[in-house]
Amino acid sequence: MAYAKSARGGAYPRKSFGFNRALLPHPSDYFMSQGLILTGGGEWKSATCPFHNDTRPSLRVRLDTGAFCCMVCGAKGGDVLAFHMQRHGLRFIDAARALGVWGKSQ
Ligand SMILES: [Zn+2]
Repeated sequence: MAYAKSARGGAYPRKSFGFNRALLPHPSDYFMSQGLILTGGGEWKSATCPFHNDTRPSLRVRLDTGAFCCMVCGAKGGDVLAFHMQRHGLRFIDAARALGVWGKSQ
């Protein structure tokens, strides 16, 4: 529950400094690397939620944007960076570094 408050999709600073969004991993690659098993058709895929003790797929993710939203615990965000921050308790800059998208601006 506490995760969801700080990271809302699109809440990142407009000036991105060394942040290069184009280097973010593709959502399908990223979510698989995080151990999510994605099921279902359509824009939103389902997966077991890593933000609470989930027993059936409650998390919905989009593979085009990386947006995610859990129907049960309320975890949500707009991209894989938001997911990484919440999953691992990282600040924006640390999550960006962990994903290799910091310090390589065009
Ligand atoms: Zn959840």
